[in-house]
Amino acid sequence: MSAVIRLQGVRKTYGQGAVAQEVLHGIDLTLARGEFAALIGPSGSGKSTLLNLLGLLDRPSAGEVFLLERPTSEMEEAERTRLRGEALGFVFQFHHLLAAFSALENVLLPSLARNGGRLTPTLRVEAEALLASVGLKPEQWRRKPAELSGGQQQRVAIARALFHRPVLLLADEPTGNLDTQTADQVFALFRRFNEERGLTVLVVTHDPRLAARTDRIIELVDGWILADRSAAPHHPAP
Ligand code: ADP
Ligand code: MG
Repeated sequence: MSAVIRLQGVRKTYGQGAVAQEVLHGIDLTLARGEFAALIGPSGSGKSTLLNLLGLLDRPSAGEVFLLERPTSEMEEAERTRLRGEALGFVFQFHHLLAAFSALENVLLPSLARNGGRLTPTLRVEAEALLASVGLKPEQWRRKPAELSGGQQQRVAIARALFHRPVLLLADEPTGNLDTQTADQVFALFRRFNEERGLTVLVVTHDPRLAARTDRIIELVDGWILADRSAAPHHPAP
């Protein structure tokens, strides 16, 4: 299995001089294509910092982040942005949807903005199909975020993150604001895209019950990987 992303000796220090604080202490981590993994650990252990480095939203203080086997830490920001836009999708605890735009526009706009493209009928149909596949009914496609429930808003955010067909989805506590049943549905969606598209998923969660629904649990404590265990195979062997 080829590595989608690989961290090698990654350290991260915030601040300088007397206030410098190293929050990641030399992380080695590889995610292979098609993995569905959870990142768990106490608050302040460095999970979001790690996700930001994996997502090329920040640069390590030492070590290297290889995305699709390419070293990224020395890349120009424009190249990192391009790579991020092609290969990565993000979902956060708060959906960050654009309040003035419909669900459909929220799915379409980032890709259009990135590619400088025009809205074609094909793109619109693809976005509608994706909204349908995350469980939004046609009458909801035209609604603004405020006219949707929290669970529906997060489904739109997931559709937005997946519209450009990234290889890796990074989700930072995506169910932190959702009730248990809706959180289950979000994880079921991740599982479905993981199976249907071979999407690699890394999801930060506080909920051991949700983490147990993934195939691999990576536990971060005080900036160290304390445990990294694979669950029993999701599918029984033939
Ligand atoms: P988690 O997501 O596991 O709660 P974070 O990665 O957000 O942990 O934070 C890890 C540590 O790094 C914490 O001590 C936090 O205060 C610190 N930290 C996070 N972001 C910054 C920042 N931008 N500047 C300074 N310190 C930060
Ligand atoms: Mg966090």
